[in-house]
Amino acid sequence: QAKEQGKNRYIFFNHSMETALREKILLERNLREAIANKELELWYQPFIEVATKRIIGFEALLRWYSPKYGSIPPVQFISLAEKTGLIIPIGCKVLQDACTFVASLRQEGYNNLRVTVNISVIQLIADDFIPTVQEIIAQTGVSPSSLGFEITESVFMEQSKGLVEKLECLKDMGIIILLDDFGSGYSSLKYLNHLPIDVVKIDKTFIDKLDENGDKKQLAEIIIALARQINAKSVAEGVETEKQLNRLIEYQCEIVQGYLFSKPVPEEAVRSLLMSNQKSVAP
Ligand code: C2E
Ligand code: MG
Ligand code: MG
Ligand code: MG
Repeated sequence: QAKEQGKNRYIFFNHSMETALREKILLERNLREAIANKELELWYQPFIEVATKRIIGFEALLRWYSPKYGSIPPVQFISLAEKTGLIIPIGCKVLQDACTFVASLRQEGYNNLRVTVNISVIQLIADDFIPTVQEIIAQTGVSPSSLGFEITESVFMEQSKGLVEKLECLKDMGIIILLDDFGSGYSSLKYLNHLPIDVVKIDKTFIDKLDENGDKKQLAEIIIALARQINAKSVAEGVETEKQLNRLIEYQCEIVQGYLFSKPVPEEAVRSLLMSNQKSVAP
């Protein structure tokens, strides 16, 4: 049957594959140029502590503005960067910038903020990951206690030896480990107990569900309880409505993040967010 349709298929496949390949090559070339031209920039999205309504830190999120093509979202270029290995230099730059930024905030008197950085599993399994991190910390003079690394459940799939030891080493340095997008992928509860996780970030899909009515037990509530069992805190990602927030408060989620509070913003806007947040919570 495949043979009968062979001719059409050939044309169809050929066309789409060629287009896809050309786009991929173009994007890769642009990404290389973007690194060289410094078109990649970190924006920051606040974490809010529910109990105090205070900003306790930020997640660094990469933004690519290409003068030629406009802004290109991370979902489009991060996976390509992972496949091509470009994630290594990009990840280095991301960590350097985030460390420099949090170190400067500290100098301005914001002592207790933590900035989290998304770390690809490709970076994590690289042999020189730990020395690279140590070097960047030394270079930028950042306190490791101002840092957090967000990793995803895909690390569970890695057979890479010494992964747990690496995470423990980072933890010993004072960097906290956050498990990002929890529940969205290959969550293996078996591993949850073995990894030194400080914070579980509940995937946005479970937060969206909190808008629905009904008496079905919410998975967000179960995840928060689970996190507590392993002595981890919970962060709700992608909180957009008051209703979601109220339910999260009811479930005793400690930290929230989402458009309800703020979208990711560039560096200068971080300072205004911090100033107005301190004012608004002052007695
Ligand atoms: P993530 O780490 O799970 O980041 C959360 C994403 O949700 C961000 O998208 C953020 O802008 C978005 N978001 C936050 N709050 C809300 C909300 O209330 N509503 C909605 N609709 N969205 C919200 P973004 O910045 O496009 O990043 C997408 C993904 O790209 C990230 O998911 C992360 O996996 C990856 N990424 C971004 N920056 C980096 C980076 O520097 N390094 C690596 N390795 N990955 C990165
Ligand atoms: Mg993240
Ligand atoms: Mg996330
Ligand atoms: Mg996500």
